[in-house]
Amino acid sequence: MSSSVSVAIEKGVAVVTIDNPPVNALSFHVRKPLYEALTALRDDPAAKAIVIACAGRTFIAGADITEFGKPIEQPELRAIVALLETIAKPTIAAIHGTALGGGLELALGCHFRVVDQGAKLGLPEVKLGLLPGGGGTVRLPRLVGAAKALGMIVSGTPISAGEAKAAGLVDAVFDGDLLAQAVRFASEMAAGGGPFVPVRDRNDRLAGTDLAAFDAQAAELAKKARGLEAPLACAEAVRNAITLPFDEALAAERQLFVKLVSGDQSRAQRHLFFAEREAAKVPGKDLQRRVIERVGIIGAGTMGGGIAMAFANGGFPVTLLETGEEALQRGLAMIEKNYAVSVSRGSLTDEAKRQRLGLFKGGTDYTDLADCDLIIEAVFEDMAVKKEVFGRLDAVARPGAILATNTSYLDVNEIAASTSRPQDVLGMHFFSPANVMKLLEIVRADKTAPDALATVADLARRIGKVAVAVGVCHGFVGNRMLSARGAENEALLLEGATPSQVDKAFTDFGWPMGPFQMGDLAGLDIGWRNRKARGQTAVIADTLCEQGRFGQKTGRGWYRYEGGSREPVADPEVEALIRAKATGIAPRAIDAEEIIERTLYPLVNEGAKILEEGIAARASDIDVVWANGYGFPVGKGGPMFWAGLEGAARIVERLGYWHRQTGRAIFEPAPVLRRFAETGRWEAL
Ligand code: NAD
Repeated sequence: MSSSVSVAIEKGVAVVTIDNPPVNALSFHVRKPLYEALTALRDDPAAKAIVIACAGRTFIAGADITEFGKPIEQPELRAIVALLETIAKPTIAAIHGTALGGGLELALGCHFRVVDQGAKLGLPEVKLGLLPGGGGTVRLPRLVGAAKALGMIVSGTPISAGEAKAAGLVDAVFDGDLLAQAVRFASEMAAGGGPFVPVRDRNDRLAGTDLAAFDAQAAELAKKARGLEAPLACAEAVRNAITLPFDEALAAERQLFVKLVSGDQSRAQRHLFFAEREAAKVPGKDLQRRVIERVGIIGAGTMGGGIAMAFANGGFPVTLLETGEEALQRGLAMIEKNYAVSVSRGSLTDEAKRQRLGLFKGGTDYTDLADCDLIIEAVFEDMAVKKEVFGRLDAVARPGAILATNTSYLDVNEIAASTSRPQDVLGMHFFSPANVMKLLEIVRADKTAPDALATVADLARRIGKVAVAVGVCHGFVGNRMLSARGAENEALLLEGATPSQVDKAFTDFGWPMGPFQMGDLAGLDIGWRNRKARGQTAVIADTLCEQGRFGQKTGRGWYRYEGGSREPVADPEVEALIRAKATGIAPRAIDAEEIIERTLYPLVNEGAKILEEGIAARASDIDVVWANGYGFPVGKGGPMFWAGLEGAARIVERLGYWHRQTGRAIFEPAPVLRRFAETGRWEAL
């Protein structure tokens, strides 16, 4: 036990080293010896100063999340921080790697923080639906001011060592041997003689806070919270730090934390956190991975360009292949423009832009792909074109190269069969814009080799993607469920709902936008073209397209967009068109509850079918897809988790009702959903 924390005193400076691999989480078996060590050092005259440091690759990267939801064993973090603040000799946190969450809160209990120049510091609790519950909301504002603290705590995004120094969070930034310099810093402080004022007693940065400006900033953030409680609780806690005495603000922080940690939203967000880690695991942990150095991309359109950027951002050299010089130059110019936008926004340096562009090579001849280890096809969504591309790839790609398709819907088995090496073929379904969106569906075809799948899953992590392995079916997990979600959209309109009513039911639920707004954003012509190719119709959407109403890009779609604005305005013309098409249907009032039942219940039901068919390995994988690729509100944990909150028995019952009403297959409750209603567990039968 005590091996997690060791103490060495040298020339009057005690160094307390925490060693709890991999990330020095603040588990009980760290907290207990740490508390004991600090208690002893407080009263030990041999120690004139105390440095807290960590072994391994990082400072404390957070609480031990496996302890969440369980009774916390004493001493908890708050007790350690309180103990630190009773120590009269100088205490110094020496931070390398990341100081996150409870790690940073512990450091805030010290008089000083010194950091390695590569360190990052942050309070990411909000991302788990929580607030920093170890005094972070009350102490951080005392060092960096209320406005900066609010931004850090509500975003949860860590800041760099330089930014932390400028903000007042850290006292020194060191290059080289951190511990040696921290010890020297500690000796100097001890020699200086103090007094050493704990953070809790420093009020100078708070004294001048402009409360009205703070409230305005908090109100702005509240608007973006879209129904999430944690960001609001974070803002409330920081406000308390300004307006209440320290101990009262600390107690209020505790109350807010306790409320959040037992609530559904935080449960949902913690579920997603673990679900992402679980989804990253594909069978074959011990399989030798293939070496991927150069990546080839075929097609430099919307997706190809974005995918190429995602790899260049991850440091991979990329070869882009197009049908002709002009299309190639257009693609490369778009990539350059996207990087230029990042530079103008300040999120990328000029030098980084130059470096990334230096990773690109263009070509129009398939032999240009001969030295690529992974080749991703992103050409038109047309089976004949894809087969031709894979046939030509087969002729030039080196043996063992992984051949991937970015198809949205097409059968990856059929594509694989157009090569002589189906074991090397799989789907890599990126989402638009591919350099931004985190989700990657990795499509495992019947003959895909396990090592190819495992290689791509690892690679996804290296380029910052959240990967989920899925099986072959029309639209895979995400787009297949999206079709189920949208199957009733037109029926709802014909029966009396308006596009704005449907969209409002979605945004009230917590989606960033509703299906009609999303259609306008993506372009209604895409679905129209797909329907025509598949011999399908959508009576209202088709008519809108025939009228040239393609959505935002033409200024009119389901809504009107005035003067190039992105703000949708309800259009009486569309409402008249809907009524004209609804021959023989008397319009009735349709409430939000019915909209949810007819859109989101089929979404869950389709997820259950996907589980039954083994297209997804776990219900939580489906949640990861929907939270990362389609904007499912994270506070509800994804469709399969939400089904539990909503009540599976209710969903089965209401689906049954709508099935009887309409006879439509999307409403027929799936056996796996019925089972979930009985057992509370998602499992294939
Ligand atoms: P796009 O029309 O923007 O780009 C396709 C590009 O491929 C064009 O630049 C075209 O010149 C090039 N191309 C066509 N045939 C080629 C060939 N034989 N060799 C080399 N280049 C060729 O299309 P997109 O939106 O980028 O879609 C590409 C693929 O990605 C499709 O399969 C699509 O279903 C899929 N996808 C699209 C999205 C999306 O939101 N747009 C999302 C996920 C997946």
